[in-house]
Amino acid sequence: MVDRGYYWNKFSLQWGRRTGAAKPYVVRRDGDLMTQVTDHGGGVHSIKVPIPDNPLGHTLVHVLDTDRGPVLIDTGWDDPEAWDTLEAGLAAVGTEVADVHGVVITHHHPDHHGLSGQVREASGAWIAMHPADTAIVRRTRESRPGTWLTYLAAKLSAVGAPEEHLAPLRAGGGRARALPGSRPALPDREIVPGELLALAGRRLRAIWTPGHTPGHVCLHLEEEHPGNLPGRGRLFSGDHLLPGISPHIGLYEGPDDAAVGDPLGDYLDSLERIGRLGAAEVLPAHQYAFTDAAGRVRELLGHHEERLTGLLGLLAQPLTPWELAERMEWNRPWEQIPHGSRNIAVSEAEAHLRRLVKLGRAEAVPGSEPVTYIAV
Ligand SMILES: [Zn+2]
Ligand SMILES: [Zn+2]
Repeated sequence: MVDRGYYWNKFSLQWGRRTGAAKPYVVRRDGDLMTQVTDHGGGVHSIKVPIPDNPLGHTLVHVLDTDRGPVLIDTGWDDPEAWDTLEAGLAAVGTEVADVHGVVITHHHPDHHGLSGQVREASGAWIAMHPADTAIVRRTRESRPGTWLTYLAAKLSAVGAPEEHLAPLRAGGGRARALPGSRPALPDREIVPGELLALAGRRLRAIWTPGHTPGHVCLHLEEEHPGNLPGRGRLFSGDHLLPGISPHIGLYEGPDDAAVGDPLGDYLDSLERIGRLGAAEVLPAHQYAFTDAAGRVRELLGHHEERLTGLLGLLAQPLTPWELAERMEWNRPWEQIPHGSRNIAVSEAEAHLRRLVKLGRAEAVPGSEPVTYIAV
């Protein structure tokens, strides 16, 4: 579950309108460190916290002022430069890490939850997360080094991965070394879907949006927009709704889970729910703030429908999930996709296959091993 090699599929580049409300400014400290902080108005700032060696570039950590002190929405990747940037960013908005009152996590991924433990240590802040993602944090903390790689090798073998892809995983599992980010902080508060978070002086409601992860939440700030944009408040959308990319939708399960869910189905349902909120502005965890959430939701729903139709074309002949992933249109040729990203690509292929099977548009070929699927 350490997804440093995050693979973002072909993205749709429809840029949202920028709003006039945000005022970006730049802070320099120690000569070379540059932090970009944006004042979104109404006691909300964002800090661009870098993600090392990642095409996404940064996580937008949001700082929400409350009567009990600042509350962070996500914290950023566990990395010294990210930490320094977070500290400098908090200083730029007139506060410091020690003052942080609480941390609300949109989902367990390391670019969102990575620094939460260090923030709690420095401030005594609570950390809140949806229980479905807390379960994954617990699983990651408790699993023995190597368990995940061994599981992954078995799983990939079952969906048709070739031996040269599996060999390094088997070797890694055997070496049983601890993976970076394998001790994420255990949250101490539960985010309850549909309820307001207990924040002094603010109305922030949790909206459960499973799909990208099983416990992903968006957070709806039910307050008048400070720039008087039309609509209902502002939405911290995490990775669920981003202006220019479509988030990775893979599989939820781990070594001890038998359950076969439908993450893409969850995601599409969650998207529709978010589209109906009518938020005046979206503050995502990557890229930039944007308006017209409903329009962006329609685009993403269309994008996924198009992809599902494209996959049905490929499934005119029986294919393993691996073969399907090889034939899907990624933003670079399959030969150039690195090892770790191929794992993510094949999980994306499987999520789409599950959706097609659930819709009755594809089925597994009985007796095939590794399993193949065909359009019906
Ligand atoms: Zn994520
Ligand atoms: Zn992310």
